[in-house]
Amino acid sequence: MRAPFLARRLNVPEFTQVTTPAVLCAISNICNINCRICETQDAHVAKGNMDYSLAKSIIDQCKGRGINTMILHHVNEPLLHPNIFDILL
Ligand code: SF4
Repeated sequence: MRAPFLARRLNVPEFTQVTTPAVLCAISNICNINCRICETQDAHVAKGNMDYSLAKSIIDQCKGRGINTMILHHVNEPLLHPNIFDILL
């Protein structure tokens, strides 16, 4: 496989394939960095954070379906969400 070969060559840990279901849930579209490769700063949609109640509802629905992994990052910095610790805990 290509990835483990590169990991050995670059002397970084190998990643294992995720086999459990996961949900990608971008809780905001805000980021305080401005990477040149990123569309965040050029997006034509309003910047904002997902309401905590909606985030909590999505988490509860995932739990109810046996999904215990959520990915909160997708073209954003989730740690900037004002309720991030409530969402994580
Ligand atoms: S979301 Fe990620 S890629 Fe985009 S500006 Fe922020 S840190 Fe960079």
